[in-house]
Amino acid sequence: MAAIWVYAEHKDGKIKKVAFEILSEAKALAGKSGGPLCAVLIGSGVEGMAAALGSYGAQKVYCVEAADLGAYTTGGYTKALCDLVQQEKPAIVLFGASINGKDLSARVAGRLGVGLATDCTGIGLDDKGRLQVRRPMYAGKVYADVVFSDAAPQMASVRPNVLTLAAPDESRKPEVVKVAAAVKSDDTMVALKEVVKTGGEKVDLTEANIIVSGGRGMKGPEGFQILEELAGVLGGVVGASRAAVDAGWRPQSDQVGQSGKVVTPNLYVACGISGSIQHLAGMGTSKMIVAVNKDPEAPIFKKADYGVVDDLFKIVPAFTQEVKKLQ
Ligand SMILES: Cc1cc2nc3c(=O)[nH]c(=O)nc-3n(C[C@H](O)[C@H](O)[C@H](O)COP(=O)(O)OP(=O)(O)OC[C@H]3O[C@@H](n4cnc5c(N)ncnc54)[C@H](O)[C@@H]3O)c2cc1C
Repeated sequence: MAAIWVYAEHKDGKIKKVAFEILSEAKALAGKSGGPLCAVLIGSGVEGMAAALGSYGAQKVYCVEAADLGAYTTGGYTKALCDLVQQEKPAIVLFGASINGKDLSARVAGRLGVGLATDCTGIGLDDKGRLQVRRPMYAGKVYADVVFSDAAPQMASVRPNVLTLAAPDESRKPEVVKVAAAVKSDDTMVALKEVVKTGGEKVDLTEANIIVSGGRGMKGPEGFQILEELAGVLGGVVGASRAAVDAGWRPQSDQVGQSGKVVTPNLYVACGISGSIQHLAGMGTSKMIVAVNKDPEAPIFKKADYGVVDDLFKIVPAFTQEVKKLQ
């Protein structure tokens, strides 16, 4: 039976959690289809990360390396992955819907001439053994179940933090297959000269378990200080609505929503955010939503699991103090 592949994105020598999440659920799919579950690492010096993929269920890990495959480039990674897909012919290839995962999956699908379901929140197989995925449409107003034609491979990108992460089993050792990629500097087309971090060591919003977000109700950039304090005691990070970003109160990298980041934390605390459809498109699949807003009619309350109708400048610092008492 043809294999199920998971592209394992990595950064600074660490595999992104979403790859482990996909492997955790794809294990059941591979069990049903009878094909092996494989992971693909691309870069240089990646072999050391293979064992971790095995512990989440990858039976085989392809380590695709070339001197010109250091940091991620669309052209280089597309060539490396397409060559391997054409050689090994997997049935299914799954990616994390991170920024690079979205970029790579779209380019690979285009190069191979196959379809791609993006930003999925569920993966499975239909009764014919084809990949069947669930994905939000119309800014999260409806979910579509999508099946694929018989073209191969069937490809999808999966939203981080939505699939259930299994416990790793370190006794599982994957078969490691080294592949020398035929990638030259001409394929990469661009050269990465320097990475300038804007958010310091802050966890990327798309990977955060707890997000405390603020909107226009924060009144100004200094208002976000109380959100930083709450996020600090909760072990989370701060996000923002577009209104707060457009006002210059927060960097664009903090924006949650349709034209910002799509996030799925375990806890999303929305402070002074009305809950526009565009904001909900970015955080509506959060596992628990708490809203603080002085307007009882604010649409965010329709989506929230818990709501506080009051002045956030009174509620947020008091809540921070209560959390501190528990620590
Ligand atoms: C194409 C397009 C794309 C967009 N993309 C995005 C996107 O990605 N993300 C996004 O967020 N928006 C996006 N928007 C903008 C969106 O439509 C809204 O304008 C925006 O989300 C509003 O932000 P807000 O909720 O912070 O502000 P407002 O809608 O002004 O809400 C502020 C809220 O704060 C409350 N409030 C005020 N003071 C207090 C207080 N002291 N205590 C408690 N509550 C208080 C008010 O009651 C109000 O509900 C997009 C719009 C378009 C057209």
